[in-house]
Amino acid sequence: MPARTWPVLRLTFATPLDDERQQQLLLDIDDCGASALEEDGDVVSIHFNAPADRDAAVDLLAARGWLSQAALATDDLPDEGWAARSQANLPAVRVGRFVVAPPWDLPSPGAVGDALLIEIEPSTGFGTGHHQSTRLCLRALQSLDLAGRRVLDVGTGSGILAVASWQLGAAEAIGVDNDPDAIEAAEDTLRRNAVPAGAVRVEVRGLDDPALHPADVVCANLTGTLLRQQGARVQRLIAPGGRAVLSGFTEDEARWVREAFDDCDVEATHDEEFWIAYVMRRRASTPQA
Ligand code: SAH
Repeated sequence: MPARTWPVLRLTFATPLDDERQQQLLLDIDDCGASALEEDGDVVSIHFNAPADRDAAVDLLAARGWLSQAALATDDLPDEGWAARSQANLPAVRVGRFVVAPPWDLPSPGAVGDALLIEIEPSTGFGTGHHQSTRLCLRALQSLDLAGRRVLDVGTGSGILAVASWQLGAAEAIGVDNDPDAIEAAEDTLRRNAVPAGAVRVEVRGLDDPALHPADVVCANLTGTLLRQQGARVQRLIAPGGRAVLSGFTEDEARWVREAFDDCDVEATHDEEFWIAYVMRRRASTPQA
């Protein structure tokens, strides 16, 4: 099977973008399905999940006048993680107290010690522990006192963060995802990790589902664009005084995430390469506007 690649567009500007133009660019690419934005001086790299999204973005950027301001180049980044998954040789990874392992690389019981083991069958569902943002969330969760807390994991993928929260002592964890395949993978994760019935629930739901209720801790490892567009919805799911672990966005997108979560304060920042995770705390009461 050929290694998968991720489509990228690179715009090279004559001068670095100021905040206002960067914001305009972000707004303009919002509808094109961009998965991440990375800025390095006068070069802006826009990452996509599918070539068709990138093609649509080129048309839109041309229509909005960006291509007369920047030189355009396309790139296809090899996704080594995906190649590894497709070869079914993904190794176990250690993140603080957690060991995230596929069935073929489970540590022997004697080697687990006091580590918290999460067994995940890598599938197309996201959340094997091999993406920086998942590792950042696992790290951030370990910094919180989850004992007795209710955790809501929006965009649960393989269910990894919901299971991790339960292992860290959460009273209840609910994982939701709008992709039924992800929920099937999450159900498999619950079985493999012998999660007692009811301790972790996983359900097919979008993050705008009215059945979702505020939780003490909300995990949202999504994308910068989604967190910015849907930040207000996600923020409403954090109980006043509660916390959120947010990731899936880059350094360059971090500011927009902070702006979208305007009723929260950043308590901690975790980073790996250009990926960021925030631990945010929602204020206990909102001052009157
Ligand atoms: N929580 C996992 C997976 C993150 S990938 C981890 O940390 O590794 C992001 C997940 O969000 C994907 O499974 C995707 O299907 C889901 N997702 C994207 N948009 C969503 C939406 N609007 N509502 C619910 N889930 C969504």
